[in-house]
Amino acid sequence: MQIYIDGQYYSKEDAKISVFDHGLLYGDGVFEGIRVYNRKVFQLTEHLLRLQDSARALMLKLPLTLNEIEEAILECCRRNNLQDGYIRLVVTRGVGNLGLSPDKCTRATIIIIAGSIELYPEKYYREGLKVVTVPTWRNSPAALSPAIKSLNYLNNIMAKIEGTLCGAQESIMLNSEGYVTECSGDNIFIRKGERIYTPPIYAGALDGITHRVVMELVKQSGSQVEEKMLTRYDLFVADEMFLTGTGAEIVPVVEVDGRIIGDGKPGRLTQSLMAAYREYAHQHGTPF
Ligand code: PMP
Repeated sequence: MQIYIDGQYYSKEDAKISVFDHGLLYGDGVFEGIRVYNRKVFQLTEHLLRLQDSARALMLKLPLTLNEIEEAILECCRRNNLQDGYIRLVVTRGVGNLGLSPDKCTRATIIIIAGSIELYPEKYYREGLKVVTVPTWRNSPAALSPAIKSLNYLNNIMAKIEGTLCGAQESIMLNSEGYVTECSGDNIFIRKGERIYTPPIYAGALDGITHRVVMELVKQSGSQVEEKMLTRYDLFVADEMFLTGTGAEIVPVVEVDGRIIGDGKPGRLTQSLMAAYREYAHQHGTPF
């Protein structure tokens, strides 16, 4: 494996950054997780634009233009001869001193890892996940906007740990008012009758790129997704539920907080979207 750090390539053993990098010291940085299907990078422009927005919101100056980052990603895929895989793009504030202020960080650090990911074993795509709502809230937009994909994932990590303690595979995070936002690393959709719902981004969710693709696939099928504030009750009485994310793609949910969703099996909408998504993802993307 060849890992890109600031314009150079390193082996896995040698890919190291400074202990004075503020990405490590303070979680000061941004990132993207990107998929490669069939030697094409999926939704690359969308990921780069979201990275740019995250960096802007944190006043973090990207060390390269988006075109240069794109070229570095494609070159990293070529060097690693990636057929299907997962790319982790990380931009940290860079090397500074032990103080909190980024004043001394003169240049952001950029890292590209072209590897692989398996978020859930295959059986969960056939049988569905068990999820729970957890005590840790999603970040409040008044504190740190949940739309920023920053290196500060601690409340999502707490949520993940809390879910695992309950024997669940994913954890649903609520906002400070008790509305459903998303999972620790995935967005949420439900179906009730003929209607499909998802929490709006302003509920406190990341503007997921898989979420956007799924909204578009639903639209192409002649239906539409309504963005609506959802409570736990809405989840309990849903006929179907599924999660979306770059790593997870589309994964069915069959149980929430001990309540069985629908008939306890992945629903028809979920199954048709899973197939449509896989097909779409294999056809689209930036070749390298
Ligand atoms: N929510 C959170 C908190 C995430 O970290 C992610 C990405 N893993 C998602 C949702 C899904 O977003 P995307 O479809 O862009 O991967």
